[in-house]
Amino acid sequence: MSRPDILFPIFAELTVLNGIGPKLARLFARLGIERPAHLLLHLPTGGTDRRLRPTIRGIPLPATLTVEVEIGRHQPPAAQGRAYRIHVRDAEAEFLLVFFHAAPEQLRRKLPAGSRRIVSGRVELFDGIAQMVHPDHILRPDAAQALPEFEPVYPLTQGLTQRTVIRAVSGALDRAPQLPEWIEPSLLARRGWPDWNTALRKAHAPAGPPDLAPDAPARERLAYDELFAHQLTLALARSRSRRAKGFATKGDGSLRDRVIAALPFPLTGAQARAVAEITADMASDLRMNRLLQGDVGAGKTLVAFLSMLAAVEAGGQAVLMAPTEILARQHHATLRPLAAEAGIGLDILTGRDKGTERLRKLSDLAEGRTSILVGTHALFQPDVTFRDLRLAVIDEQHRFGVRQRMELGAKGRFADILVMTATPIPRSLALAHYGDMDISILDEKPPGRTPVTTALVSSQRLDEVIDHLRRALGEGRQAYWVCPLVGESEAISLTAAEKRHAALDQALRVPIGLVHGQLPPAEKDAAMADFAAGRTRLLVATTVIEVGVDVPNASIMVIEGAEKFGLSQLHQLRGRVGRGAARSTCLLLYDPPLGETARARLEIMRETEDGFRIAEEDLRLRGAGDLLGVQQSGLPRFRIADLETQSDLMRVAQDDARLLLAGDPHLTSPRGEAARLLLFLLERDKAIRLIDVG
Ligand code: ADP
Ligand code: MG
Repeated sequence: MSRPDILFPIFAELTVLNGIGPKLARLFARLGIERPAHLLLHLPTGGTDRRLRPTIRGIPLPATLTVEVEIGRHQPPAAQGRAYRIHVRDAEAEFLLVFFHAAPEQLRRKLPAGSRRIVSGRVELFDGIAQMVHPDHILRPDAAQALPEFEPVYPLTQGLTQRTVIRAVSGALDRAPQLPEWIEPSLLARRGWPDWNTALRKAHAPAGPPDLAPDAPARERLAYDELFAHQLTLALARSRSRRAKGFATKGDGSLRDRVIAALPFPLTGAQARAVAEITADMASDLRMNRLLQGDVGAGKTLVAFLSMLAAVEAGGQAVLMAPTEILARQHHATLRPLAAEAGIGLDILTGRDKGTERLRKLSDLAEGRTSILVGTHALFQPDVTFRDLRLAVIDEQHRFGVRQRMELGAKGRFADILVMTATPIPRSLALAHYGDMDISILDEKPPGRTPVTTALVSSQRLDEVIDHLRRALGEGRQAYWVCPLVGESEAISLTAAEKRHAALDQALRVPIGLVHGQLPPAEKDAAMADFAAGRTRLLVATTVIEVGVDVPNASIMVIEGAEKFGLSQLHQLRGRVGRGAARSTCLLLYDPPLGETARARLEIMRETEDGFRIAEEDLRLRGAGDLLGVQQSGLPRFRIADLETQSDLMRVAQDDARLLLAGDPHLTSPRGEAARLLLFLLERDKAIRLIDVG
């Protein structure tokens, strides 16, 4: 499918616009503007009041003013490089127009003495004399109406002027077609939004500051267009991935009941709800693509296991994939007694399995003796085959891409997919990011966790921290010490960790472990196992302990260079303690001086242990792209919409997009056709390909 003809005029090269040559086009490209269509969505961020006033007298300077003046005496520069001055007078005051590097004849022609002109520009005092340097506008009085009372101000780049942008935008608007409406009519009416073409014209011609606000109808409509196009893309992906899988995985609940009865605690309400949502989804013959989101310690593993049991009850298999060897082993250890209770085959497969042992595991899997497999990336090897894979669970989604998600699912005939993440993404972003998935949320933690006391400590007080640690370790407690991330470089981070390890060893004289990303897996596991068993009292680590690892006796978490971590990451790290009965402490060490924002961020960590709140605040302080890492976020660049403040619109867009597709899966109705236009307009190529294959 290719771009509809009606869009051609605004998808021409930028140089079709009057006054734009290759050189200006290159400047625009720096702003991400390569076609008139992009220019249309390059909205003003401010405006200048250009209303004509009688005089500059009495107005606090500097100020941008528009007045009618009578041109007086010209005063050419006294010397090379000095200013050319023109004396002018408005109704009540005299001031100077000032020009540098000007051609005198041109000024005499444009501003002949004795004539009247409207001049508009910034007036300031220089040596006590009011002057306007290089007026923005000079007009004959009879052309006054050419000057808008409120002139838009656009974001620029070096070399580009407001005037150039305004002219280019006007050229682009001349080419903007009338398009059929893709927004649901009742929504459009309810919100009082103009049609697309009118919205563009209004957004580029604000009548005053209120028209620049994100909720001005014209701007809001254009923002909605972006959100709607994005949600359409996600909804298309969702409906394509949720094809009928040809079977329903419906367990009888027997294994689940047995395991639940054997647990020393009841499920939380949220866990029960999530299991119900997941198993209901598996029981339909549409393919599941679901996200299980829950803060650290919310009990996701158990939810995953119970869901996997439903697959086993239905005669199939399930796989749980972890991002690291340590986590895979830990999951396997956690699940072993539960699998024994259920009387089913549980196995683990990682990159460390070799030779005949590996072959045995593969044949157990292929022949169905293993019902549930836990593993790492090693699961992707082509000789790993299942007898009947029904459910693939992926832990800690943010380490895997969408493609890998799908690859794993492909190991079964359209196996259902459940992705678990402990990264509490604000709801607004969850929608933008995971809108192609259905979401189950564990918003309730198991009872009995003790709150963690969090303190901010300057690294200048390191000695006190070590004294504190010495006492605590003496009392039989265990602690983590997390070393700062140094850029992206694992090697430098490692050196830092080794140094810290040596120094703490010197100072504390207790067995201390060290884990980092470059340690061979066997040694990493050994170090973790030593710590879990209490053979080491302190564990120095780079962030490899970030996800999932569970050592209940550890009750102190020291994080060095805390200001260098993302809040969600700090939250994850802190979640490693407070798992047992003991009172836990988290010390956030920072290198002074701490900037205002950095301090505000760390203060949030002290105020709350609510991962969602932390994520919301992190988003507020850092912005959406940053929170997820722009490249990995997979979010398109929104030119107008703002995820932070327009999350309500995002939800409306999601509902609207899903509803449209439910009734018109191939976008062939008139509104569906209009929606296609929108996807072309906003260059959602991925969505367009999805329609093609649909
Ligand atoms: P998550 O993976 O969501 O961070 P886990 O699945 O590791 O959390 O669970 C954290 C701890 O809580 C585990 O020790 C687990 O056994 C325990 N747990 C899980 N569900 C419950 C529950 N309903 N009541 C009490 N403890 C629970
Ligand atoms: Mg976990």
